[in-house]
Amino acid sequence: MAATLRDRLADVDARIADVATAAGRDAADITRIVVTKFHPASLVRELAALGVTDVGENRQQELSAKRAELTDLAGVRWHYIGQAQTNKARQIRQAASVVHSVDRERLADALDRAADEGAPVLDVLLQVNLTDEPGRGGVAPTDLEALAEHAAGCRTLRVRGVMGVAPLDEDPAPAFWRLREYAERVRGIVPDADWISAGMTGDFPAAIAAGATHLRIGSAITGPRPVRG
Ligand SMILES: *Cc1c(COP(=O)(O)O)cnc(C)c1O
Repeated sequence: MAATLRDRLADVDARIADVATAAGRDAADITRIVVTKFHPASLVRELAALGVTDVGENRQQELSAKRAELTDLAGVRWHYIGQAQTNKARQIRQAASVVHSVDRERLADALDRAADEGAPVLDVLLQVNLTDEPGRGGVAPTDLEALAEHAAGCRTLRVRGVMGVAPLDEDPAPAFWRLREYAERVRGIVPDADWISAGMTGDFPAAIAAGATHLRIGSAITGPRPVRG
């Protein structure tokens, strides 16, 4: 019989627990975000019914549309994990509880300015480029401290840590250990910024070993993504 959503979720959680134990870590310190991109809003509802509290989306339009469709759904935190355009900052801010992909000062400023009067502080992570290619998204490691200082100065943002995507053509483990060093550099500026968002379906064990606190896992839980029409 085909594995159900419940089976896949339980299987991934068991693997997270095993790897955490092997790494001498407590699985309770690790937040498993289920990435639901390209799947219908109804999948988020199913996940919430299974106890999932954190979901991730990488496109602003899809995030906003799902939130609009699920206004009655309580107890779910929405993580924005995709590249963000400054002109979409308001929509992102309205729909997301956490933005993982702050990679430039202009984006930090745009998210800060997009705060409605009395809006809660927005948790943000600084995305660091773990590849040698400038186009891949994420701030260059050499510019990380400047970005951290800038974002820390944005009144309505709270810098929680760093985010990274492992390079496709490299063993993910050393990339995640580099990310851990970058997280420490950010903590030199924002001492309580202790989140590390790293690890996807193919590489989350390596991310846990390197200290990831937030895993972004899609297809291992949701099944293959529907092809975009
Ligand atoms: C899609 C996506 C993921 C999840 O990918 P899977 O391989 O399906 O687990 C994680 N992080 C980001 C930034 C993504 O866009």
